[in-house]
Amino acid sequence: MKIVFFAAKPYDSQSFSQLADQYPQLDLEFWETELSVKTAAYLTDTEAICAFVSSDVSAPVLETLHARGVHLVLMRCAGFNNVDLNAATRLGIRVMRVPGYSPEAVAEHAMALALAVSRRLHKAYIKVRENNFSLQGLLGVNFHGKTAGIVGTGKIGAAMARICQGFGMKVIAYDMYQNPDLPFVTYVDLDTLLAESDLISLHCPLMDETYHLINLDTIEKMKSGVILVNTSRGGLIKTDDLIAGIRENKFFGVGLDVYEEETQNVFENRENEILMHSTTARLLSFPNVIVTSHQGFFTDEALHAIATTTLNNAMAYLRGEKAGTELN
Ligand code: NAD
Repeated sequence: MKIVFFAAKPYDSQSFSQLADQYPQLDLEFWETELSVKTAAYLTDTEAICAFVSSDVSAPVLETLHARGVHLVLMRCAGFNNVDLNAATRLGIRVMRVPGYSPEAVAEHAMALALAVSRRLHKAYIKVRENNFSLQGLLGVNFHGKTAGIVGTGKIGAAMARICQGFGMKVIAYDMYQNPDLPFVTYVDLDTLLAESDLISLHCPLMDETYHLINLDTIEKMKSGVILVNTSRGGLIKTDDLIAGIRENKFFGVGLDVYEEETQNVFENRENEILMHSTTARLLSFPNVIVTSHQGFFTDEALHAIATTTLNNAMAYLRGEKAGTELN
């Protein structure tokens, strides 16, 4: 079965090609171009395509895939808010994803962002490179003995909760389902979490109910001097309200791996010059804000796990089996 990869980056072809020998039934073809109605129209003899969280897997694109004989969409990511599942089901296209590849990769990045802003590492790095060894502007805060508030205690949130516990923090969480694997976590309502946390880390999915979860109202409820980290989805935070909060010195620091405009701007230009939307650029102008380019998942171990699960998904489809990673 031929699988065409859209928006394939060098690291995608590398991680998938390393495993190709183990899957002789699969013929992997890597296209650098993004998935669109126009590019999908070029597919020939292709039963499956592989897409990413930034891909346009909307109804018009799925119609074109269907017309070109594609029956399977393999998402090489966990998120699927960019896929029109109703259209896929209507057209008889199966969609599979990689639900959890390395929760620790994202959680460790969340803590890296938290530490970077808590100890002003981004400023220290620049200063020392300029031969400036003064401590001016570098005063940090401890995490030990403080309270971490985890919003969403699924796979990544649970990993972050364990990391925070390891730092000697009291860990509280907000989720509609209590994770039984986290006996050290105290579940509270969202208002309590906002009011009591010194570090707030977002790990819930982006849905109608969580869109702009962090806004003027919820920021108002936070402690002054809180550290906010978002490695989940940009739409969880209303950027203009966050900027207002930063201006009012509400935050000791903010670490963002995701931001509202990234789909249109950053991903399309990942390999080239990264073009920033003006709102994200405004965030970067604050000295206590760190932005990374959605790299939480980007570790060697995670890429290997993504490739393995995606190719196993393709094999399950070929064998007519349920893989447990189906979305429709
Ligand atoms: P998961 O499904 O295992 O966990 C999500 C948790 O959020 C669940 O426990 C769920 O009950 C909870 N939740 C749902 N609605 C909520 C709400 N309104 N309030 C509070 N909690 C709520 O997902 P995961 O694998 O832990 O991933 C979490 C998020 O991380 C994903 O949605 C994705 O957007 C993001 N992610 C980011 C990267 C990255 O590179 N930065 C990589 C992978 C995933």
